[in-house]
Amino acid sequence: MQQAISPIRTTCPYCGVGCGVLATPLPDGGLAIKGDPDHPANKGRLCVKGAALGETLGLKGRLLDPMIHGKRSGWDQALDLVASRFRETIAAHGPDSVAFYVSGQLLTEDYYVANKLMKGFIGSANIDTNSRLCMASSVAGHKRAFGTDTVPGLYEDLECADTVVLVGSNLAWCHPILYQRLAAAKEERGTRIVVVDPRRTATCDIADLHLTLDAGTDAALFNILLAEIERRGLIDDDVARGLDGMEQALGAARETKAAATGLPQPDLTRFLDIWTESERVVTVYSQGINQSDSGTDKVNAILNCHLATGRIGRPGMGPFSVTGQPNAMGGREVGGLANMLACHLDIENADHRDAVRRFWNAPRMAEKPGLKAVDMFRAVEDGRIKALWIMGTNPAVSMPEAERVARAIKGCDFTVVSDIVADTDTTRLADVLLPATGWAEKDGTVTNSERRISRQRRALPAPGRARDDWRIMADVAGRMGWRDAFAWETPAQIFAEHAALSGIAGTLGSDFDISGYRDASGQDYDLMSPFLWPQSPARRGGRFFGDGRFHTPSGRARMVAVAPAILRPVDLAAPFTLNTGRVRDHWHTMTRTGRAARLSRHIAEPFLEIHPRDAARLQLSPASLAQVENAQGRCILRVLVTDRVAPGHPFAPIHWSGESSSAGRVSALVSELADPISGQPASKSAKVNIRAF
Ligand code: SF4
Repeated sequence: MQQAISPIRTTCPYCGVGCGVLATPLPDGGLAIKGDPDHPANKGRLCVKGAALGETLGLKGRLLDPMIHGKRSGWDQALDLVASRFRETIAAHGPDSVAFYVSGQLLTEDYYVANKLMKGFIGSANIDTNSRLCMASSVAGHKRAFGTDTVPGLYEDLECADTVVLVGSNLAWCHPILYQRLAAAKEERGTRIVVVDPRRTATCDIADLHLTLDAGTDAALFNILLAEIERRGLIDDDVARGLDGMEQALGAARETKAAATGLPQPDLTRFLDIWTESERVVTVYSQGINQSDSGTDKVNAILNCHLATGRIGRPGMGPFSVTGQPNAMGGREVGGLANMLACHLDIENADHRDAVRRFWNAPRMAEKPGLKAVDMFRAVEDGRIKALWIMGTNPAVSMPEAERVARAIKGCDFTVVSDIVADTDTTRLADVLLPATGWAEKDGTVTNSERRISRQRRALPAPGRARDDWRIMADVAGRMGWRDAFAWETPAQIFAEHAALSGIAGTLGSDFDISGYRDASGQDYDLMSPFLWPQSPARRGGRFFGDGRFHTPSGRARMVAVAPAILRPVDLAAPFTLNTGRVRDHWHTMTRTGRAARLSRHIAEPFLEIHPRDAARLQLSPASLAQVENAQGRCILRVLVTDRVAPGHPFAPIHWSGESSSAGRVSALVSELADPISGQPASKSAKVNIRAF
């Protein structure tokens, strides 16, 4: 009798919900996929993307061999070339002449190795990640308010809140399992749901109130709320004593005009009533807040309201940033951003740098923040960066001004790309291509939006000559002369080193603590169940800040005075504000979800949602083609006439690539304008002109 094969417990590689997956190897080499009933994030559920994971496998289009200038090579030859070119570039031009651009798709162990190599051994902080495009404004807002990049709450807060406000977040399509949990909570206990979004999204199906505010006025809305909180006497004296900056924040709030959001007064009044009358309120926010040139201020305007009322860190209360990628949080934990150090330590703090240097026995520690994504590609363009290593991401499509970024990469002296896919807009530009293992082929950990660390487990053999990202980097580090510091044999050893460093970080005031795993054996790592950090028993229930203690030097949180963004006057050459976002069944640039036919049944091609009044004026009929253009580029999109969007504010999805002149590469239209504090590009919108094609 044939023995049944046990399912392997792993984690979905798409959004930041971080659902547990049971993957059972099939005789044909594929995987049968089910939701893991024991994973706390999803309790057995999967959305359609997760359920279709088994259909995205297979070797078609995979990068299976190292390639040098388009020709197959051996690993030794490719790794020798990468190490020697990086070493020579550093010797000739200094450590800041090289850079890594990595990905929220990397596992924490991969991220740890990349960060250690760049910041501790090469001696530069020029490592940034596509997570910069996703949640950097949340990181900056958290650090300004709390002193650390701490997400205070948990998913279960959405289920025990009386009111959940969703700001710039289409949870139904972008975080479907969290949406299902919220919809079930509404069914069971009548949770009130407010959606704040200029567009009527699928999430509005369960909303009690939809606020169609003018695009970009979110900070004004939360300033108005803060002033109302004060007017209604909801600022508790005890809470106020634990806050810095309150008077300045209130001053800015009082000056914000009620008309600033463009909302009808009855809608605004109802929102103020609902929020102020709900003791248990969670404000969820996502890319609509983060991807803005004032994203950090928007984040702090939200945090201010929770801090002033003490509605934070207790069951059913708090601000909640939900991340787009599966491991954006893990990347933050290992310091995988140009302005961070490992374990939530601060690169601009000499004591922190010194502690990490001693722990790593690092020969050349980065002394200052490195280049953030937009600046990094500018430095590639103007020749300051001469050797670039891109891992697991497709910036020639996904970065703002994508065509300019593609030209910059093409002009770089030496570009390495590690990927699982052979042919992308970015792999075509590489001098050296390194085949990486993908989901289901590698072991490691990821952290979801509520700080829960879960294992990804190998369920399939590595195809061709693909290798794990951490091993590729460790092999290059060894060739650059640092073999002993990168001599791990397993990802379990890397995780244990990361955990040990978190123990040291804790003594320096960091919130990040997984030090209980510092002595974890390979077997402990294999058997690891999903767990929340910090592990400290003092953090009862896994929430932060319910005790009123923060990680600032004073122990008090900081409220930030936020001046609402000044809306720019209409540009006659680009009079429309294009809103960008995701569709339900595709992911990023579709290099994986594009392989599953059923994931294109929902929406098969790029489109432009446009209001009937705009469509009539431009003589665009339904299903015709529109040319959308601005100074950065142009793309062609199928017209979808709908009143889901407001006049002047069309919408287009981000997933499709191809030549911008013939397809829907929306990122070609997005400018490099970025938030000055977080460096996060304002990818959520672009000023464009539209005409019939
Ligand atoms: Fe995967 Fe996100 Fe869907 Fe969960 S909700 S199955 S993590 S894509």
